[in-house]
Amino acid sequence: MLRNDPLEQWDRDHFIHPSTHLAQFARGDMPNRIVTGGKGVYIEDREGNRLLDGFAGLYCVNIGYGRQEVAEAIARQARELSYYHAYVGHGTEASVTLARMVVERAPENMCRVYFGLGGSDANETNIKLVWYYNNVLGRPEKKKIISRRRGYHGSGLMTGSLTGLGLFHKLFDLPLDRILHTDAPYYFRRPDPAMGEEEFSDHCAAELEALIEREGADTIAAFIGEPVLGTGGIVPPPAGYWEKIQAVLRKHDILLIADEVVTGFGRLGTMFGSVHYGMEPDIITIAKGLTSAYAPLSGSIISDRVWKVLERGGDEFGAIGHGWTYSAHPIGAAAAVANLKVIDDLGLVENAGKVGRYLNDRMAEALSGHPNVGEVRGEGMLCAVELVEDRASRSFFDPGKTVAAKAVGAMLKRGVIARAMPEGDIIGFAPPLCLTEDEADTIVRATKEAVEEVC
Ligand code: PLP
Repeated sequence: MLRNDPLEQWDRDHFIHPSTHLAQFARGDMPNRIVTGGKGVYIEDREGNRLLDGFAGLYCVNIGYGRQEVAEAIARQARELSYYHAYVGHGTEASVTLARMVVERAPENMCRVYFGLGGSDANETNIKLVWYYNNVLGRPEKKKIISRRRGYHGSGLMTGSLTGLGLFHKLFDLPLDRILHTDAPYYFRRPDPAMGEEEFSDHCAAELEALIEREGADTIAAFIGEPVLGTGGIVPPPAGYWEKIQAVLRKHDILLIADEVVTGFGRLGTMFGSVHYGMEPDIITIAKGLTSAYAPLSGSIISDRVWKVLERGGDEFGAIGHGWTYSAHPIGAAAAVANLKVIDDLGLVENAGKVGRYLNDRMAEALSGHPNVGEVRGEGMLCAVELVEDRASRSFFDPGKTVAAKAVGAMLKRGVIARAMPEGDIIGFAPPLCLTEDEADTIVRATKEAVEEVC
C-alpha cells in the first residue's frame, strides 16, 4: 500500500459518503478514516491504528473479519460462475442451497425466501408483496403500513418513510403517503415514570389500536417493527410488548413484518429475534448477518399464509413483476452459505447470548452509578448507554453539545469503536458475535473512561 499517495485528498474531492456532513467532510473539518484490513473483531486503518470494532461495521460483521473459509467460498464462486440471474426460474447451486438453509433456520411457519441485496430493498419487496397480497385478496383499500417512531427500516423512498427518525426525512420530502407511525416502545422515555413495563406495553398497544380505529382497519395492511429497536437507540421492548401488539394486529387482520436485519442469525442469542420474543411474523426481513457483510445479500422470508396468496396470485394474474438484476447473486449466496456454516461450527448464536449478557452486565456495573448515565440497556450482543444531563429528571443534554459523539471520539483514542446513535445521546454497541469476555472488558473500560472524560 502506498503511504504517500493522495487517497485522503481524493476522498474529500470525489467521494460522497452516506450519512455524513457533506460540507464539513469536503472542507476537511472532520477526519476521514480509510480502512485497510480486518481480523477477528479488529480493523486497521491507513494511519496504522488497530481498533476493536464494537459495532461490527454497521452491526453486520457477525462472524468477525478475515474468515478465510468465506473468502475462499466467494473466490470459488467467482471462478466457477460469477453471475447468473434468478429470473423466470433460474437459480444457482449456491442460491438454491441458501434458500433451503434459510428456511431450515427460520421459525416454523416460514416456507420460502425472496433474495435481494440489502435491508432497504428487502423491505421495499415486503411492502410490494403486502400490497400484492391484498390486491389478490380483493382488498385494494387495505394498503397503509404502520411503523414506529424511532424504527429504522432503510433509507429508500418507501423504507426511508417507514423509518421513524427525522434525520432520514429532513429535506427529502418524506414520509410518503400510506405510511403511519405509532409510539416507540421506549420504556426509559415512558410518559409517566410511575408506569410499570407491562402497563407501558398496554399503553403502546392501546395507542396502536386507537390509530387503527382512527384510520379504519380495512385501510391498514401491515405493521413493521424490529424485535429490538436498533438505530433508534438500541431499545429492547418492555415486558409483554410483542404479545400485546400481536393481539391487536390479529384482531384487525393486519400482517406483521419482523425486520430482523440486525437481529437475524444470532444477535440476540437465538437464531431469530422473533423466536426470542414469541413473535409470529408473516414476513421476516434479513440482511446483514446473512452474509456477515462479506458480500451484499438480503432476503424476505415468507410465511405459509402469505405464500398461499402469492401462489394464488400467480394462477390468477400471471408472473410477478418484481425483481432486481442481482436478486440472489451467486457470490452473495456463496458467502451466505459459508457464513451460516461458520455461525453453526463456532456456536456463535450461543456465544452471542453468553458474551452479550456478560458485556451488558459489566457495562451496567461499570457505568450505571455515573450521574450522567440515565440507563444501560441491551439484549444479547446489543448494548446501549444513554447519557442524560440530569439522572433524576432524565433530561436531555443540549443537542449542540453532542455528548455521545464526543464520548465515541474519546473511545476511539482508546482503540475502541462504538456508535453515537442518531437521536439522543446514546452510545451503541453491537460487536461481532465472536466477541470474547476479555474483549468485552476492553469495551467496558474504554466506555467508562470516555464517559468520565466528556461528562
Ligand atoms: N432494517 C434495519 C433494522 C436496519 O438496521 C437496516 C440498516 O441498518 C436496514 C433495514 C437497511 O439495510 P441496508 O442499509 O442494508 O439497506
